[in-house]
Amino acid sequence: MLPESVTKAREILQDVTPLRTDCGLTCGGACCQSLPGETTGMLLFPGEERWYEGRSGYAMTPTDHGMLLTCSGHCDRADRPLSCRLFPLLPLLREDGIKVATDLRARTVCLLAKQGKDALLPEFVAAVREVGRILAEDDDQRAFLAQLTRTQDELKALRRQFRRDAHV
Ligand code: SF4
Ligand code: SF4
Repeated sequence: MLPESVTKAREILQDVTPLRTDCGLTCGGACCQSLPGETTGMLLFPGEERWYEGRSGYAMTPTDHGMLLTCSGHCDRADRPLSCRLFPLLPLLREDGIKVATDLRARTVCLLAKQGKDALLPEFVAAVREVGRILAEDDDQRAFLAQLTRTQDELKALRRQFRRDAHV
């Protein structure tokens, strides 16, 4: 069984999507496709691996950042992991609460991520915020959100550094 917080989070994002239309029609579902020589993978939230144990079409690999799920590039909607349901946004854990941000890792593949969250349906942004609040009440999920937040901050710092260096 999934942790209760993860079940709730997945339910909230079961039907709400970034746009009213299928954004995959414009990009060919880029976020589900692997680049040549690579395999598409996404980090599972703590406990979410239980959903995929023994399920065909998926493989899991432990990493320093958590369990990495790889897939065939096609899935039933009910099987989408939380990372895919949140994409291209993330709920980040800040001192003054949950903040919704575009996932910096998404910018290389996703047109929507390049446009920013203001281009997305407000219902989707609100659902991601609500999911963040629910996860933050569970210690394991909160720790995972904190780790995701640190990773985003490190990426942001790297991007700033890169821009500064490019202007020297
Ligand atoms: S890459 Fe972005 S625009 Fe394309 S299907 Fe995924 S979320 Fe939608
Ligand atoms: S699990 Fe489903 S939504 Fe996520 S990358 Fe694979 S095919 Fe796409």
